[in-house]
Amino acid sequence: MNASVRLFDSHCHLDDEQFDGDRNTVITGLREAGVARVLTCGSDLASSRASLDLAQVYEDVYAAAGIHPHEAAKAGPDDLNAIASLLRQDKVVALGEIGLDFYYDFSPRDVQQELLNRQLDLALELSLPVVLHVREAHGAMLDLLRARAGSLPGGVLHCFSGSAESAMEYQELGFYISFAGSLTFKNASKLRLAAQAVRPERLLVETDSPYLAPVPYRGKRNDPGKVLDVARALADIRGQTLEDIAALTWDNANALFGLPGAPQA
Ligand SMILES: [Zn+2]
Ligand SMILES: [Zn+2]
Repeated sequence: MNASVRLFDSHCHLDDEQFDGDRNTVITGLREAGVARVLTCGSDLASSRASLDLAQVYEDVYAAAGIHPHEAAKAGPDDLNAIASLLRQDKVVALGEIGLDFYYDFSPRDVQQELLNRQLDLALELSLPVVLHVREAHGAMLDLLRARAGSLPGGVLHCFSGSAESAMEYQELGFYISFAGSLTFKNASKLRLAAQAVRPERLLVETDSPYLAPVPYRGKRNDPGKVLDVARALADIRGQTLEDIAALTWDNANALFGLPGAPQA
């Protein structure tokens, strides 16, 4: 293992076509890169199925199944039923990614909110945590979550992009906060303040690969091995060691996704 650290990439998309040429090489090389577990996330029915397929093949890969806000307008009731049956399979450890995206607005906002509520209900019913995607919609997301206080599943704000204040509010509601390569971008000073504010027991790291490669790989294809760069950046920002960040984000991810602490040798 690289640098004697053991990392959990809490969010990636290994089914993405950008991995079609070398997916097996990328995944089988992860332990060498210090990455012992990854969560690969669905964004619609097809990618959720593909995520489960990967989790069934590779021991270190876990899957999340759900319908992304971008796909909300296209999803029918049958899609949600099919997602529900995927969520009952072994190695599917979270419902996601789901959420609100008012930056792209690919689906009408009321449709996004309704689908989000239905998937939060489903997560509660199945006792699974959720992976939340929120872009330019933190006010609406916090309102929606607060309105459900008392009937909320656990979960994580993935690729966090909000302020320190909103991070604190999500924490109060019981959510984890996951940081990605955007932490390394020059214009991310507000995000770095949020990264300093989050309590250690609520921190996660991720790549969102193949998207969002950290500096100095920005613009290139990202892969889960680069979660090491994210963890290093987070350690610098918080004045902690890489080993500390690796250990606490490893424990946090396993606690959230209900996994035993140590991987099988
Ligand atoms: Zn996302
Ligand atoms: Zn994603």
